[in-house]
Amino acid sequence: PPETQLSLEGIAVVYNRAIHALHDVGFSVGAGEIVALLGANGAGKSTTLKAVSNLLPAERGQITRGSILFEGEDIARQRTSGLVRRGLVQVLEGRHCFRALTVEENLVTGALGRDASHREIRDDLERVYAHFPRLKEKRRTTAGLTSGGEQQMTAIGRALMSRPRLLVLDEPSMGLAPLVVQDIFTALKTLNAEAGLTILVAEQNSTVALRHADRAIVLENGHSVLEGTAAELRAREDIKAFYLGES
Ligand code: ATP
Repeated sequence: PPETQLSLEGIAVVYNRAIHALHDVGFSVGAGEIVALLGANGAGKSTTLKAVSNLLPAERGQITRGSILFEGEDIARQRTSGLVRRGLVQVLEGRHCFRALTVEENLVTGALGRDASHREIRDDLERVYAHFPRLKEKRRTTAGLTSGGEQQMTAIGRALMSRPRLLVLDEPSMGLAPLVVQDIFTALKTLNAEAGLTILVAEQNSTVALRHADRAIVLENGHSVLEGTAAELRAREDIKAFYLGES
């Protein structure tokens, strides 16, 4: 088995001192794996990812129990910017782009936290464009005028510009046409295979996620209730109806 890169143990999160969003979430992600975090609407996927990157709403969302280790170090409640510099980068739900900037300007912002030279930024841009040719075509277009799929690719490309070792994505398929979703997951798969990038992806679309992931964890009501290889979970038809609210 691969070396553990990220592990969560017994994580509980409370919103507004009242809403227990996570009760007990635990799982690990091995270096070089693609792991899917599945679960119905409201099961706690986003909250889990936000807990990892310390993106819970300030003051209103708190980790009350448990530990989060990244590459052997306790990272719970560490600053998001510091985590990004250490290689743990998250693509938020909803394709966050700077709408008024061009696609390429958006990508470059991803490199700003590093002390990167012009040359390095150029090379990294070319790498992003190699994975997402659409972005090269649209590089001088204002991001707000590009399609939903292109905005999602821009958000992913921006994350890649900070040279992650672990890329965390929250529902990259949301609201996108099946062919676009396919393109995005194919690019993620290539990044994983060629660059060894570890990927943790929350998805409501379990069919797509299980087609591309190595392993998956299922959340239900703030608990991690089930875990297995993607092949094991694909073979279990009951899971979809039971835990994922799909049929
Ligand atoms: P979705 O697919 O809708 O994002 P999810 O599995 O990611 O679902 P979460 O968004 O993590 O689920 O939500 C888990 C629980 O926490 C839900 O009951 C939700 O209503 C609650 N919750 C999420 N964010 C907040 C918040 N900022 N304040 C209060 N409660 C919240």
